[in-house]
Amino acid sequence: MYEAGGWVLLESAIADLPVDLRWLFESGAVTIEQLAALHGALGVTTAADLRAVVRREAVRKVPGLDVAVESAIAAALPTLRASVPRVPLGRAIAIASPFLSRLRELPGVEWAEFTGGVRRGEDMVGDIELVAAAHDAASVFDALLELPDLTRCLHRGPRRLYLLTDRAQIGIRCQSPDAAGAALLYLTGTEAHFDGLRSLASSRGWALEPEGLTREAGSQRLSESEGQIYSALDLPIIPPEIRNGDDEIAAAQQGTLPALIARTDIRGDLHMHTDFSDGRDTVEAMVEACVSLGYEYLAITDHSPHSSSSRNLSADSVKRQAEDIARLRERYPQIVILHGCEVDILPDGRLDFSDRVLERLDIVLVSLHDGAGHSPEHLLRRYLDAMRHPLVTLITHPTNRLLPYRAGYDLDYDRLFAAAVETRTVLEIDGAPAHLDLHGALARRAVNAGATVAVDSDCHRAEMLQLQMQLGITTARRGWVQPRHVLNTKPVDEIRALIAAKRAR
Ligand SMILES: [Zn+2]
Ligand SMILES: [Zn+2]
Repeated sequence: MYEAGGWVLLESAIADLPVDLRWLFESGAVTIEQLAALHGALGVTTAADLRAVVRREAVRKVPGLDVAVESAIAAALPTLRASVPRVPLGRAIAIASPFLSRLRELPGVEWAEFTGGVRRGEDMVGDIELVAAAHDAASVFDALLELPDLTRCLHRGPRRLYLLTDRAQIGIRCQSPDAAGAALLYLTGTEAHFDGLRSLASSRGWALEPEGLTREAGSQRLSESEGQIYSALDLPIIPPEIRNGDDEIAAAQQGTLPALIARTDIRGDLHMHTDFSDGRDTVEAMVEACVSLGYEYLAITDHSPHSSSSRNLSADSVKRQAEDIARLRERYPQIVILHGCEVDILPDGRLDFSDRVLERLDIVLVSLHDGAGHSPEHLLRRYLDAMRHPLVTLITHPTNRLLPYRAGYDLDYDRLFAAAVETRTVLEIDGAPAHLDLHGALARRAVNAGATVAVDSDCHRAEMLQLQMQLGITTARRGWVQPRHVLNTKPVDEIRALIAAKRAR
């Protein structure tokens, strides 16, 4: 509960008031009577609702409220969600995905989706909210309230349900199927993206509201699906991960939106750990899991001797692991097992294994794992030294951030990306929930600079391989990354050729 920001939610449960409304009250913008009037007349429960009613100037029309209250709410809005406890994306997805699956299976639910930061793949998310399309919200809610791991119902309205599960608060908005697409578009955000679409609509004399797109007064509102609304605006569906409100609408108008990388483009996973270092599972368990994911190849990459992880490889255990892998290659001919290592870059820029050990490996990943201590310039120099090493293929989690605790290095990333291109070193987009590194914005700069990236799971247990790969892909999509930018969309022979070419230089 603590990790998921549960204290605030519990507090709100005790007060028995939707949390955003409670914060609105505590901001001083409204009295409790005004809040009750607002909720009673307009059915608002969340900050998104408040934004919507302020935008369409509905507050001032409620008996007992006026323009001054509406302005006070508008002024308070930006502060309401500023203090929402944020949880890492990986945790939010792990908590809410089983719930989403069950919601989708309920009778009468035509479709259901995440909204907000979860759907856009933000690194840290404040709310877990879903939209479901169903005619009969009441029976959907009744069924949800029967779920075994439900702790309590925080709030139930005709179309909203807020639940406390054993690990987090989950909000569900149930809309009739003819209106659910508009709700999904609006609640997915970002606000800047929605505003961009709204300006585009109004430049044509139309009106885009949270309830849908109206082309002419009196005409039928388009609200059934996101696709319907985008297509009326002559746009393809813009992937949620890039709905930032910067240049994605312009790119969509010009027809230059890239086809973003997807899970089906991935042929293998080049970064994972076993019980030879700090992973939980054996090499064989990881191989088996990768086979069942349909991969063509995987790389086993445990930690080098001076890594700060709880267990590390020694030169001797590298040898034993090689024997292990040789045996497994015979047992699992359907997948290529690359023997690799995640080697620390030592403080002086040298690598944590001798070249004689490294040259026997199929692939060498290098990392900085230190928290701090060196200046950005010094850290960059260590990276650059490592990248020039002919045996080095890939830099893992380049910013070395640790969500939610530690920000990444403040390096001159343009120099890092240029060096990656020059030395033909691959940069990683690491899908471990605490990494998501490179993050979207940096990944975009990296591929724009011409660098190749790899999307890896950096997995420490077999059952997380799929989720962490998916988190990596989501992060890559936020960086506008396309399949052609990604090393592990390529057949293993091409990867081997790239490694051989660098080694030959
Ligand atoms: Zn690492
Ligand atoms: Zn790792």
